[in-house]
Amino acid sequence: MRVFFDVDDTIITWDVRLRPGVKEVFARLRADGHDLYLWSGNGRRWEIVRRFDLHEHVLDCFWKPLYRHHERLAELGVPFAPDYVIDDHQEVVDAFPGVRIAPPAHPLEQDRELWRVYEAIRAHAAGADADADG
Ligand SMILES: [Mg+2]
Repeated sequence: MRVFFDVDDTIITWDVRLRPGVKEVFARLRADGHDLYLWSGNGRRWEIVRRFDLHEHVLDCFWKPLYRHHERLAELGVPFAPDYVIDDHQEVVDAFPGVRIAPPAHPLEQDRELWRVYEAIRAHAAGADADADG
């Protein structure tokens, strides 16, 4: 699947720390055969790819539509619709298949959300309906 991750409060914290499990889960998803992309309402976040050395995992970065999500993909230069999205905002998860992620936990070291997301993606890819209630 083409899996699109939001950036702020999804893979990084408000103070720009990488959430626990991001690299491990990205590596597993790629090993499972998925293509990973970042998208953000704040633009193409290559600075995050660079800062956390995510180049080997992330194929491309896109602008994320914040409304009329499907209609605006072309306008924003997103060449295909995501098969699955991970986002801390419910509207995105309502617009596309996906799972809502809770904002980073405190203390950050105890944040296990990325692993829950991994299981949700795996279940969805297997054709099961993952629990997206979070
Ligand atoms: Mg976000």
